[in-house]
Amino acid sequence: MPELPEVEITARRLDRALTGAQIESALAPGINALKTFDPPLSVLAGQKITGVGRRGKQFVVRVDGPTDPLVLLIHLMSAGRLQLYDKRAGPRDRTSRLLVRFDDGRELRLREFGSKQAAWVKLLRAEELDEDPALATLGPEAWPDPPADLREILNAPRPLHTLLRDQRTIAGIGRSWVDEILWEARLSPYKRGADLDAAESSTLREAIVTTLAIPDKLPMPLRVHRHEGEPCPRCGTTLESVHFESYVIAYCPVCQTDGRTLKDRRLSRLLK
Ligand SMILES: [Zn+2]
Repeated sequence: MPELPEVEITARRLDRALTGAQIESALAPGINALKTFDPPLSVLAGQKITGVGRRGKQFVVRVDGPTDPLVLLIHLMSAGRLQLYDKRAGPRDRTSRLLVRFDDGRELRLREFGSKQAAWVKLLRAEELDEDPALATLGPEAWPDPPADLREILNAPRPLHTLLRDQRTIAGIGRSWVDEILWEARLSPYKRGADLDAAESSTLREAIVTTLAIPDKLPMPLRVHRHEGEPCPRCGTTLESVHFESYVIAYCPVCQTDGRTLKDRRLSRLLK
């Protein structure tokens, strides 16, 4: 599941590679991932890419457009990938959801793997971008400059693990990086947002900024998420986990929960 660091790095790479590239054609083959119909994808033919960026976990591909500037808004969801190829996909590639072909032969491809078909694309007029529901509901960006006092956005009687993954509360964090952030801040995944004091809030902010910090090419390696059963990188205690239907929380019981181990059933009720 790509989260803010992975999307940011891909967006930077695509921005360098594609700015100025001229589109020959764009199509959304097979299962239609395209969620808009006006303007149609066909207007992209002959237009130039003016930049690639990110909002939350979504890509924003800017195109000059025949009259007004346009934007492709792309969400990979859990199993999508956005990649640039030197050659075009063959007609049998069933993973393709969007193909943007350039006049130099390259192809930007949104592909999706696995059984779910959830990744989506919208072609919008640039002026409509901020009003699109996918962006209008986003909370402040988690990186590089989250709100100075996180208590302003986390002041709710919900566990931090849930709040930090809620894109309406703060944009960009998902089930992988939330474990890293809470471990870095030495906070329990089920501490209530409303219970954060000033010091914890500032530690959490620092942990978000440093954990999501993005080197040039690859995000930092995950050290806690999916590392249950291994020693805590800080104190050596075995990392514990709590399993849910669609995700797993990993944490250090010494660094984060005062030595307590979380029971799956109890926590699943708490997190509702
Ligand atoms: Zn530890």
